[in-house]
Amino acid sequence: MIIILGAGIIGLSLGYDLLNKGKKVKIFDTSDIKAKSTIASVGMLAPLIEAKPLERKLFDLMIESKIIWEKLQKNTNFSKIVGLKNNSSLMIALNKDDEEKLRFKQKFFETLGYDSIILSKNETLRMEPFLNSNIVGSLFCDKQNQVNPMLYKNFLIKEVLGLGGEIIYEKKIKSITIKKKKILLNDKSFGFDKVVISCGVWSNEIIYNSFGIKFPTRPLKGISLLLKAPLLKFNHNLWFKNIYIAQRENEILAVGATEEEKGFDSSVKMDELFFLTNSLWESLPKLEDVTLNEIKVGLRPAVYDGNPIIGPLESVSPDIICNFGHYRNGILLAPITSQIISQYIFEENIAKEHKFFSPKRFNL
Ligand SMILES: Cc1cc2nc3c(=O)[nH]c(=O)nc-3n(C[C@H](O)[C@H](O)[C@H](O)COP(=O)(O)OP(=O)(O)OC[C@H]3O[C@@H](n4cnc5c(N)ncnc54)[C@H](O)[C@@H]3O)c2cc1C
Repeated sequence: MIIILGAGIIGLSLGYDLLNKGKKVKIFDTSDIKAKSTIASVGMLAPLIEAKPLERKLFDLMIESKIIWEKLQKNTNFSKIVGLKNNSSLMIALNKDDEEKLRFKQKFFETLGYDSIILSKNETLRMEPFLNSNIVGSLFCDKQNQVNPMLYKNFLIKEVLGLGGEIIYEKKIKSITIKKKKILLNDKSFGFDKVVISCGVWSNEIIYNSFGIKFPTRPLKGISLLLKAPLLKFNHNLWFKNIYIAQRENEILAVGATEEEKGFDSSVKMDELFFLTNSLWESLPKLEDVTLNEIKVGLRPAVYDGNPIIGPLESVSPDIICNFGHYRNGILLAPITSQIISQYIFEENIAKEHKFFSPKRFNL
């Protein structure tokens, strides 16, 4: 029996993978927690655009995961169910300064081995006629796709239950106690082979309360919006200086996102809404015809070195596995992360190139 703590995209994706490979799985979660990251995420699958200098290992991991997404995409039924789209990205310049930054980005992408194309204003408007006519150009990045995270999450829940897995909603888990092959949580005891902690930014709290170990993680609050925009229709994922936009079905645009250090605050503040609406105002025309459908708040599980924490917590037990800290990229990284942990569960082995993400790097 594999016990997974946390039914966000990371825990569910692993549960699905393990059930498909014949393991028994119990996933624990709670409705006591607000601002779960998966719920607010936009679902961009765009390693190139998320790439940062000095983060080569993370970039390689994102590319590995993207390849798995591309394989999944061949199943057209799956793609339809989860809103998985093979659309490329356009990074839009609204002024000369933005344009200069795009040239810099293009050079950086080249160093990663990827070509992108600078487009003029007219070329951009031909591709996206619903953009503001005051744009000055764009950078075209091929195959930087998107999925609808809530459709994906619902798909995983259905599949996990259909494959005989359990998803148990209880009160928030404060700590766990491990005794031989039994785990005690919320005053109940369960037999287990491995326990996986995938509670997003709340993982650290459980680990600290249970084993006195503190990882350098922190919540990075993000607000995203769902808009109904019947008069705007886009073919690409759009990236502006402050916001990004994913075209969904039914005339919906998903807009991301603020990113601020505000602790575990799960409320929506006016300055956050102002930031998003003001950026939208600068970026899109016809806003008078756009309706606000939903405001979402999520706490991104960020680690100080920017990399997720994936692997056994050997200083406590090889049977306790960390699977959290996916920060801005958890939707993109869910498939590869599941593959790494699943391989460890079956073979007690983590591939050399993935050991970099091990909890051991913190010497805890
Ligand atoms: C605004 C925004 C936009 C984003 N856009 C993108 C994007 O475009 N592409 C991308 O790849 N990523 C994006 N992300 C990042 C992505 O959402 C996260 O990396 C990912 O969702 C992390 O998933 P998770 O399962 O680890 O965490 P979560 O989704 O936070 O799930 C953790 C789960 O654990 C449960 N839990 C926690 N503590 C306990 C406890 N003590 N007891 C019981 N249950 C517990 C919670 O209830 C929750 O269900 C975005 C994030 C935000 C906030």
